Amino acid sequence: MKEDYYDILGISKGASAAEIKKAYRKMAIKYHPDKNPGDTEAEEKFKKSAEAYEVLSNEDKRARYDRFGHQAFEGGAGGGGFGGMDMDDIFSQFGDIFGGGFSGGGGFSGFGGGFGGGQRRVKGSNLRIRVSLTLEEIANGAEKKIKVKRKVQAPGTTYKTCTTCKGTGQVTRVTNTILGRMQTASPCTACSGSGQIIDKRPPEADAHGLVQKEETVSIKIPSGVEDGMQLKVSGKGNEAPGNGIAGDLLVAIEEKEHHSLQREGDNLHYDLYISLSEAVLGSSREIDTVTGKVRIKVEEGVQSGKILRLRGKGIGNLNGYGKGDLLVHVNVWTPKNLNKEQRDFFERMAEDENFQPNPEKSDKSFFEKVKDMFS
Ligand SMILES: [Zn+2]
Repeated sequence: MKEDYYDILGISKGASAAEIKKAYRKMAIKYHPDKNPGDTEAEEKFKKSAEAYEVLSNEDKRARYDRFGHQAFEGGAGGGGFGGMDMDDIFSQFGDIFGGGFSGGGGFSGFGGGFGGGQRRVKGSNLRIRVSLTLEEIANGAEKKIKVKRKVQAPGTTYKTCTTCKGTGQVTRVTNTILGRMQTASPCTACSGSGQIIDKRPPEADAHGLVQKEETVSIKIPSGVEDGMQLKVSGKGNEAPGNGIAGDLLVAIEEKEHHSLQREGDNLHYDLYISLSEAVLGSSREIDTVTGKVRIKVEEGVQSGKILRLRGKGIGNLNGYGKGDLLVHVNVWTPKNLNKEQRDFFERMAEDENFQPNPEKSDKSFFEKVKDMFS
């Protein structure tokens, strides 16, 4: 019988999102593997609470769990079983929980490469950065060159076999319990399970044989990313000692506000203000797009509220499904504070047939426009 997710986090069924986050935060700090090296029970609790948080922090998954319990995630394609939530997934959750830089301190998560076979390859910690993008960069995709300070192996560092575990990466402990003698194997803390320790290192290197180095990393940003998304550049985090594998560079996307274009998914909106004269006589206006300015024609007699759709002038879809549109909303500016001559003109026209609203000859109704926008 699987343990209840609410029980794991020590919260009630009605807990708010903030309470769930807070409870998980506490668990993650308490059972973090860096704090409990070699403690398999802590590791189990760490994994369990991460799994519970993964479900309860997601509104949709939580609703399914509340209705169906653990069965909600068992079997079937798309069920999303949780047997295999690995440490990388767990650590990548931390971005939301702890903000940036939680694991960027140079410690080793030490869970790369999986367990089971004695030695394991230590994984360097992930680095987190933020990249701020203009709407144009998001719309068309971009390549950003970012300076990153990462830890790399210091040249001249040499390794030798760990004396504590004799290179096996594990230490075996025999304890007497009421059930008899029990033998437990746990990762060697002296070498973090890698079986190797540092023999010689240059003076500028830290205890792990690493030095901080500034590197320029080129990051390919696909079109259509959104504020809050995270991209992973594999192997560009901190390096690990010895034959370990480098951590990843996690790139959080920030979207800069555009001065005239508003984003809605892959579509863009632009508010065009025209004068009453332009509405009556027609005009040609320059507007912003994500590929530069374009000139559009405003037909004479255009009605306020008309939406002009510029197909394919929106944002490139993240999954490659073409491009969104640019929707230009026409707003007719009604003049105020008229002088006598102007006022006389409009008063004369007040009864004129041509000045009377004629909804039937107007552009599409509001409802048709809404339908149009979502089609
Ligand atoms: Zn060892």
